[in-house]
Amino acid sequence: MGDTRLKKVLIVGGGTAGWMSAAVLVHSLGRQYEVQLIESDEISTVGVGEATIPSIIRFNDLIGIDENEFMRRTQATFKLGIQFRNWGAQGDAYIHGFGSMGRKTGLVDFHHYWLKAFQAGRVDRLDDYSINLLACETNRFSRADPSNPNSPLADIRHAFHFDAGLYARYLRGYCEQRGVTRTEGRIDSVQVHPETGFVTSVTMANGDVHAADLFIDCSGFRGLLIEQTLRTGYDDWSHWLPCDSALAVPCESVEPLLPYTRATAHGAGWQWRIPLQHRIGNGHVFCSRFMSQDEATAILLGNLDGKALAEPRLIRFTTGKRKKFWHKNVVAIGLASGFIEPLESTSIHLIQQGIVRLVELFPSQGFLQADIDEYNQQSTTEFEQVRDFIVLHYHATQRRDTPFWEYCATMDVPDTLRRKIDLFRANGRFFRQNDELFNETSWVQVMFGQGIRPQGYHPLADNTADEPTWRMLDNVRTVMHRVVERMPTHAQYIAQHCKA
Ligand code: FAD
Repeated sequence: MGDTRLKKVLIVGGGTAGWMSAAVLVHSLGRQYEVQLIESDEISTVGVGEATIPSIIRFNDLIGIDENEFMRRTQATFKLGIQFRNWGAQGDAYIHGFGSMGRKTGLVDFHHYWLKAFQAGRVDRLDDYSINLLACETNRFSRADPSNPNSPLADIRHAFHFDAGLYARYLRGYCEQRGVTRTEGRIDSVQVHPETGFVTSVTMANGDVHAADLFIDCSGFRGLLIEQTLRTGYDDWSHWLPCDSALAVPCESVEPLLPYTRATAHGAGWQWRIPLQHRIGNGHVFCSRFMSQDEATAILLGNLDGKALAEPRLIRFTTGKRKKFWHKNVVAIGLASGFIEPLESTSIHLIQQGIVRLVELFPSQGFLQADIDEYNQQSTTEFEQVRDFIVLHYHATQRRDTPFWEYCATMDVPDTLRRKIDLFRANGRFFRQNDELFNETSWVQVMFGQGIRPQGYHPLADNTADEPTWRMLDNVRTVMHRVVERMPTHAQYIAQHCKA
């Protein structure tokens, strides 16, 4: 039997997905595998994708990136959460912050004690019990301090906002130093083995042919290999997430430098605001069935904090995922694998998960269907869990002021989400399934923030009498406020640690 061991991996695409994939592969696989990346200057990257969630820190650790250096090179800022305006009802605002809430009190989650106090009229703000939320409200920042596990500062969790173009450039430098070969040029055709249906090579516009054993499709929405070549098929989720367009525009920075993303709901979608060191990234995600491009543009430009630095750029998309993320010898990562709108900044996380999962299931001798099936099953579950969380934001609303919100509030939702909402509405309970990305703190903040009010709370919260419960809550709130007051502002922290 011949040697069926894989020797060469070819990555098609040099956007965030392509370079993140190359970085993990070159770092993990070592020199026994050749890694090549092809990108085309003629076909630009999507160029957005600038807000992340805390799992990005695992990615940086995995490939050995120094955080301050990465922040300097990508003009990054810190992100402690997302502020949602006008979602539950017009005029409302709440923050979904990373990290935990309150403190662990035995088997019963903290929020049940808070719910008990809320229902007794003793408290009204969840925000007082989260270090991330309080720091957001006051524009302050500090990294977690693990040296004092009893301080709330041990629980602060951060992610980043960064410039997508600078990030791809930074990762490219990292990869090229470690042996990834970069080829610039447009792929004109893809060759497939007539019997196996496996991709064998790609042919460039200049006639060069590049062969490989494993192909990673990071070609963006077009899915050059996974869809245009292998016709893998797509699960369309636009009946649950009907937005299909985005307009993106950068604007000048303004003070103060906020340590969070803002997502403001409009009549048929929402607007993002992502503060970077050198500019603010903005965009309006909207549903073309309910709003014209002209109207969406006027709303976007009318709601910028600084002067626009370019003309708004239109991006069209269909929310959903490939029926198979890995098919034959092609693995799709990034926009080529599917897309869920950036309301909770999850796409870069899904890229990271996809490439790490591929390394975990990396083929040894040829391709085994069991490995491929496992990859597809895990990726499907992950995409569906993120989808449900995003659908929650649209569906749990009191808004009925436009046909778009009427549709979202009354549409059917996936059963998996319906069960979660019903369970929370009953007694404030939430159960995390299969290591799902968002934990109970996230779900509770969003469900409560969107206006869902549980009828009760966990009965074991009554094992502590009322007065000690109120005292415990007062105590947590006082300590949290005290710690946050001592933190530097976000801008001060960056000036001190993350500037050249
Ligand atoms: P692209 O950036 O589109 O790159 C495709 C690459 O393929 C390019 O290099 C191109 O040259 C190459 N290519 C294509 N065809 C060929 C060919 N024939 N020959 C040679 N090369 C080819 N994610 C987040 O995590 N947070 C966010 O805040 C966020 N916001 C977003 C907002 C919007 C409106 C959109 C649409 C996405 C957002 N995302 C966000 C998602 C994020 O932008 C993407 O996941 C990320 O940029 C990865 O894109 P990509 O690399 O898959 O594709």
